[in-house]
Amino acid sequence: MSLYENAVRQFTKASKIMNLEPDLIDVLSKPKRELTVNFPVRMDDGSIKVFTGHRVQHNIARGPAKGGIRYHQNVTLDEVKALAFWMTWKCAVADIPYGGGKGGVTVDPRELSNGELERLSRRFFSEIQIIVGENKDVPAPDVNTNGQIMAWFMDTYSMNKGATTLGIVTGKPLEVGGSLGRPEATGRGVRICIEEGVEYLRKEGKINKANGELKVAIHGFGNVGSYTAVLTAEELGMKVVAVSDVTGGLYKEEGFTVEELKDLVEKTTERKTGLAEINPGFKTITNDEIFTLDVDVLVPGAIENVITEKNANEVKATLIVEAANGPITPEADEILQKKGIFIVPDFLANSGGVTVSYFEWVQGLQSFFWSLEDVRDALNKKMRNAFHSVIDTMKKYDLDIDMRSAAYIVAIERVATATRLRGIYP
Ligand code: GLU
Repeated sequence: MSLYENAVRQFTKASKIMNLEPDLIDVLSKPKRELTVNFPVRMDDGSIKVFTGHRVQHNIARGPAKGGIRYHQNVTLDEVKALAFWMTWKCAVADIPYGGGKGGVTVDPRELSNGELERLSRRFFSEIQIIVGENKDVPAPDVNTNGQIMAWFMDTYSMNKGATTLGIVTGKPLEVGGSLGRPEATGRGVRICIEEGVEYLRKEGKINKANGELKVAIHGFGNVGSYTAVLTAEELGMKVVAVSDVTGGLYKEEGFTVEELKDLVEKTTERKTGLAEINPGFKTITNDEIFTLDVDVLVPGAIENVITEKNANEVKATLIVEAANGPITPEADEILQKKGIFIVPDFLANSGGVTVSYFEWVQGLQSFFWSLEDVRDALNKKMRNAFHSVIDTMKKYDLDIDMRSAAYIVAIERVATATRLRGIYP
């Protein structure tokens, strides 16, 4: 089953629980617009290479399409469609005025020089310029894209238009219209969900240890995983015992200190190498082992489909917070639910990033920039409101521990209401 089919399956399950009209199920389960571009890039050796990229706008009922652009060798239209679909529900559950979009280029950016990366980025953005715009579709970073690439995107669009347009992308560097607190935003949102999830499970009598006794394992050590690790140790005082990335994982029974985590972040970012390669002497574990460790909280924070029917039975955590998009397959989801494991679903758990993207967009449109404290306060309110509206809906519909369906119901209700109010044109 394709990733998009998986995603639609989750949506259909929730739309049936809430009795959504079949017409709307049909409208909301299909992407509004899909653009595929094949474009040439001049390589450093003088040759020309043709790359393929996509931009999909799933829904725009609540506002402009919003979502990142990823660079990865496995990018396909199907994957971009699924990710755009999730963005619609993510923006709705976070209650920010956007629809959902996503983009991607099939490329392994590690194989490009900086010049090639810039030329590819500028040409790709020119190619999708026919559908993006500050009030139409606002891209952002995603897997393997960063602030520098957003700066090139913004500059390319602005040069083509003849006017600096800050609102065209988010995730920009601070110096060119970025927002304070954007780099940490997704990790901070995940940290808030860990706190809220633990608090909820304490009330339910499923967790009775103090924070300092809770063990946390984090899969993924990019932007999301690394900030989550540091903030969970630093602000929640939990024991982060395992972290991992593509090169492998590191383990420390009594939990890494905040300084050790910050040092790992610094070394991996600065040298552009993986955890296993820079390991300063910790016990190593494999990426398969990290999902089945004896921990209280598990955070899959890298890529899709990592918890499957093959390893779901071995998961020991009480709480899973999905920092990545789609890390659990539907089959694994059922197994985990039967085991009573509480899951904070991806499009709620990782909505902190797009929420601060929204704040960045507003600041850019107004050319009025907020303090870090204002950004963090506003994010805190949005994330906690979203979390509680999903818990309330879970109770209202008697969904036991199925927070994913509850999150879909909250989001679908908002998008469906906007669609009904706007009506069908013409
Ligand atoms: N790529 C991020 C996500 O999947 C951020 C999107 C955005 O900020 O627009 O949520």
